[in-house]
Order: sequence, then structure tokens, then C-alpha cells
Amino acid sequence: MSLAPVSRDPRHDLLFQPVAIGPLNAKNRFFQVPHCNGMGYRDISSLARMREVKAEGGWAVVCTEEVEIHPSSDLTPSIEGRLWTDQDIPAVARVAEAIHRGGALAGIELAHNGMHAANLASREVPLGPSHLPVHGTHPVQARAMTKADIAQLRQWHRAAVRRSLQAGYDLVYVYAGHGLTGAQHFLSRRYNLRDDEYGGPLVNRMRLLRELIEDTVEEVAGRGAVAVRLCVDELNGTDGLTRDEVTEVVGTLAELPDLWDFMVGDWANDSSTARFSPEASHSDHLRGLKTLTTKPVVGVGRFTSPDTMAEQIRTGVLDLIGAARPSIADPFLPNKIATGRSDDIRECIGCNICVTGDMTSSPIRCTQNPTMGEEWRRGWHPERIAPARTSSRIVVVGGGPTGLEAARALGQRGHQVLLLEAGRELGGRVLSESQLPGLRTWRRVVDYRVQQFAGLANVEVYPSSETSAEELLGIGYEHIAVATGARWRADGVGRWHTRPLPNAGDAQVLTPDDLFAGTRPAVGSSVLLYDDDHFYLGGLLAELLTGEGYRVTIVTPQPMVSSWTTNTLEARRIQARLLRAGVTLTTGQALAAVHTDKVELTCAYTGDLTAAAADCVVMVTARTPTNGLHDELLGAQEHWNRHGISTVTAIGDCNAPATIAAAVYAGHRYAQELDEPTDPDGIGFRREVTALSHAY
Ligand code: ADP
Ligand code: SF4
Repeated sequence: MSLAPVSRDPRHDLLFQPVAIGPLNAKNRFFQVPHCNGMGYRDISSLARMREVKAEGGWAVVCTEEVEIHPSSDLTPSIEGRLWTDQDIPAVARVAEAIHRGGALAGIELAHNGMHAANLASREVPLGPSHLPVHGTHPVQARAMTKADIAQLRQWHRAAVRRSLQAGYDLVYVYAGHGLTGAQHFLSRRYNLRDDEYGGPLVNRMRLLRELIEDTVEEVAGRGAVAVRLCVDELNGTDGLTRDEVTEVVGTLAELPDLWDFMVGDWANDSSTARFSPEASHSDHLRGLKTLTTKPVVGVGRFTSPDTMAEQIRTGVLDLIGAARPSIADPFLPNKIATGRSDDIRECIGCNICVTGDMTSSPIRCTQNPTMGEEWRRGWHPERIAPARTSSRIVVVGGGPTGLEAARALGQRGHQVLLLEAGRELGGRVLSESQLPGLRTWRRVVDYRVQQFAGLANVEVYPSSETSAEELLGIGYEHIAVATGARWRADGVGRWHTRPLPNAGDAQVLTPDDLFAGTRPAVGSSVLLYDDDHFYLGGLLAELLTGEGYRVTIVTPQPMVSSWTTNTLEARRIQARLLRAGVTLTTGQALAAVHTDKVELTCAYTGDLTAAAADCVVMVTARTPTNGLHDELLGAQEHWNRHGISTVTAIGDCNAPATIAAAVYAGHRYAQELDEPTDPDGIGFRREVTALSHAY
């Protein structure tokens, strides 16, 4: 860890200029824009501490996620912020206090989700500009709001503004972005089919937004600042809100709020993964908007490079560098740039594992930052870790994401660490997967950790060092962490089949590991890729093989290809990319048998069998832990004492294959817990249990 003070690159000085936001003074240009986290109203202290750590990391402004203002804006099953009544004030106030304690200004994103909210818990009738089905597939329609409804909505919004100030927030948002709120639904031709003074021409469609801003300014009354988060193009052509219309909206309302927060398209576009968009991909849409207002402008672009950030300011695109994911991967990003330690930035890789927390209503996690979401419940910190009580000697076997993070964090604690990796290069699965189309940024998982080793003299790293149980027994280290990963199965076992598939004949069957190693179909050009994994890999390998000239059919028992990527906001783009590339998508079918010249498929619903031709089958189903070494060491337990070994532990994919995020987390957890007293009967983390009502 290079902690030596280094002076800041003068080209980045402008990032540390203060910016006035109405009556507020942002101490620099780093702005954590609102972002969801799957903790919301349920895990308040976890949420508060997570935001506090970011404030501590140097962000001038730290915001909440969207905060529902009324039961008619109930996003169940998502867990967002909630400010329905005064009863909710203490919870949102805890977050504001925490942000202030960390040294940042606190922003709150108030949201009335209009026809986006199905109101599953509150059972209120959803409210929209027009009689239309709510977003998603819930069998529920929104009711076209009457004038009385609109007046009522304005009152609810005013009340939420009052409560926000009471809770201690400095900056209050009016939210018209991501297609998520009524203010945007009214703006958009796509949803606003009204013919009264709230519908028709743009001046009418922007009426509700203008009224909400005016109400908020009036309620805030100079005691804080007012921000507007606005979608600048719904990317639906003239069927939706266009950039030209937004130019008119911003031109008209230019000086009303104290800050403009611009975003582009829906959430999937705003938080596009690295597979589909590079850093700063929104800049072309945002350029020019700043000239329409004298008020500061914030926008995002998965910014991790201080040079790119400075460029955004210098070229007049933005005044403030907005970040959600870069602040999740590295809450201390501003402080690192400030102190000339840009090389220490834990750069976001653009994988959207963080988004899956919100999508699955579970606490946020991050591939790069294993402490994300664990700040309060486990007491972890992205930069600090408890020093070892006594320095132990640990050998970590395997230099994949698990072993790399275990070695880094153990080293940071002050242990003596020896990392042995069989391959010539460090990285394990990340090394292989980052070579797939669009995943180059994933190498940052390896690069960050290798970079940190440079400052850790107590960590010795040896690539090209395949080791054995015999060697490890004789090595004289007290702890052995086995992080030897996993291998993809070739026998079809996965979710659909839990026993090997019949393979009659000598048909060629390849696994992702074979493809990573460079093996390709021996004969012919037609490949049947059986995807029973459902995350990114099947679709990506199909993309790779198609790019190399193979004719690829993906077969999956799921109703869509790479179905779990709905949780990373990628599913639609993946289908589009594969269809455009000419990949045949066969859904609702499982592989039933492999023969020399054909395969048999079974319908996932009826069980009917059909035959299909394929020169080669690629299986993307499940993985087998590479735990032979671990088992051998356990088998030799009677010799441990003699060799001074006290623990042997399988961690990461070698323990149970999962995501790269889970691997990094497993490595980090091993390092955190080594030599620490644990309660075998405890659950290992703190949690908040709903307070019971006195009235029952
Ligand atoms: P994880 O995701 O848990 O880190 P990976 O499969 O990415 O797992 O990485 C495991 C790493 O362990 C691979 O780089 C592999 O080369 C290495 N490895 C496996 N067996 C041995 C061994 N006996 N000695 C040293 N390294 C090993
Ligand atoms: Fe970035 Fe992935 Fe972490 Fe999200 S989970 S912040 S996309 S590295």
C-alpha cells in the first residue's frame, strides 16, 4: 500500500475547486449522485454507515437513493428510502447525520414514482398522467390523475420536503429521471396522453415539473438547495422525451433550481456496463446543456480516471463529477486523487454486481470493494483493517480473485504472506474472462491488487509455482488458504440435470475452460452452446465464437438467454447483440443427450424430445471445485502439528463456485477473520430487527 505522501498532479487541481450550490458550498467537485443499494428503509444503520464512509472518503456531496414520498409511490419488492409520514423521519435523519459526520453535504432524492410503482404493499391505485399499465409486468394499471390528484401530489411532495429539512438534509431533489417518476411521465409524450393544461404541447407537459420545483424552492426557503434530476433523452426517438425538448425544458426552467443533475435514457443506459459502454459515454448527450443555465451541472459516466474527470470540467460539459459506481468501488476516490495517489484507486470494472443488490432486494455488494454494504454490519472499512494481533505466516495457494484479495488484506493486516500461483500470470478466472469481448476492464480486479502488493514488503508473490500437498506440509507456515478455484463441467450437470447426460459416441464437447485455453471445434462450424448457468458467460462465449466465424445456437431452459443478467440491467442488450450477430436463440429447451452427429433437446415445459444438428457442443452449466489439494491436506491432518500447521481452509471458488464478487469477498473475509475470536453460535454480523408497535 503506497501511503507515502505524494503531491497531487496539478492537472487535477480543478477537481478540488469549491462549487456553490445555491446557499451551499460544495468543498470540491466530487458528487455522489443518488444510488440504490438494496438496504433502504430496512437496513438503516448499514445504509447510514455506508454513506458516512463515502463522505469520509472525500465526496463533497453524498446523496440518498430514491426516497418514496407516499404509499401511492410504493416500490415493493424493491427496498428504497421511505418518507411517507413523520414516522419515517428518524431513519432518514440517521443517514443525514452520518453523511455530515463524514464531512459531506447530504442530499435526498424525493420520488413519487407515478406509474412506475405497482404499490404492491400499500395496495393504493397507481397514479399516472394517463390510463396505462404500470412499468414491468404486474397486472395493474395506473389511473389518469385528476386535477385534484395533482394538487394532492404537490402537497405530498411539499410535506416530504419539509420532512427532509427536518431530518437535516442540505440538498433536496425533484426527480424526473430514469423513467421512474411521475414528473418524467408527465413530461414524456410516450406516457402523457392528456388533453388538459398538463398534456399536449411541451409547455403543458412540463407544468407538473415546474410546479414541483417551485413548491420545493418555496418550502426550502433558502435553508438548503434544490436539485433537479432530469432525463435528457429517453432514447425513444419522437415516441418519448427528446433531447430537443429537454433543451427547451432546461432553457425555460434554467434558473429555478440550484443544481441540475442530468442523466440519459433509462437506468440500464445510465448505468450501462463496461461490456456495452466505455467511460464518459453520456458526454455527447450532455454537452451543451450547461450553456442553458448558470446553475451547476452534475452528470455521471462511470468516471474512474482523474484525467477524464478534469476533461469534463475543462471542456464545459459538467461542473461536478457525478458518481455512483465509482464511489461504490472506491469510496475514497476523491481523497486518493487529492493526495496524488490515483494509482491506488480501486477502479470500478463496470460489471453491475452492485445493481443486483437492488434488483434482488438484498444489501449492495461490489466486485472490487468487498467491504461495500459491510461497513456497519461487519464493521469493515474500504481502506482500514485491524492490524494482526500477532503476525502469522500464511501461504495462499492460487492467485485468482480470492487468493489475490486474501493475500492483499492479510498483508495489510501485517501478516507474513506467501502467494503461490501455478500459472505464469496472476488472475485466475479474471485473467481468462477479461479477454472476452467487452470485459477488458475486469482486469482491474487483478491490477488493483497487484499494484497494492508493491507497497507490501511482507507479501511475497510467486507465479509459475504450482504447489502440492507434500510441499505445503513441509513449508513451515501456520496457515494454509487454498484458493485453487474451480473448473467448468463437461457432463451437462447443472441446474436442469443433476446427473451426467448420456453422451453416446465421440461427439466433441468443450467447456469454457477449453475455449479459454484456445481449443476450438475440431470439425465443422456449427456449435450448440448449452447454457444452464444463465449469467453472462454463455452469451459472451456465443459472441466470441460467432465473431470467429462459427454458427452458434444457444440452447437454454430459461425463457431468455443470459436470463440472470436482468439483474445487471444487461439482458435486453445481450439479446439484441446476439440476435444482430446471427446467433440462434433457442429458449425453453434443455439438452437431453449428445450423440456423435446430433443432439437431443427436451422442451422445458412439455418434455417433448426433438433432434438438432451440431458439430460441437459447448457446455456452460456448473463448475466443480478444484479442491483436491485441500482434501489431501485435510487427509494429512495428523502431520500438521509436526509441521507447525494450525489451519487449512478452502476459500472462494474452490470452496463453492460463485461470482467474482463472491470470490473477492471470500478472500477478504478470510483475512479479516484469521486469528480473530469468532462466536461459533453467533451469526457474524449485526442487523436491525423491526421495532414492534406498542399498539397491538
Ligand atoms: P477464485 O475465483 O476462487 O480465485 P480462480 O479459478 O480464479 O479461483 O483461481 C484459482 C487459481 O488457483 C488459478 O489461477 C489456478 O492456476 C491456481 N491454482 C490451482 N491449483 C494450484 C496449485 N496447486 N498451486 C498453485 N496454484 C494453483
Ligand atoms: Fe463497479 Fe462492479 Fe463494483 Fe458495481 S459491482 S461498483 S459495477 S465494480
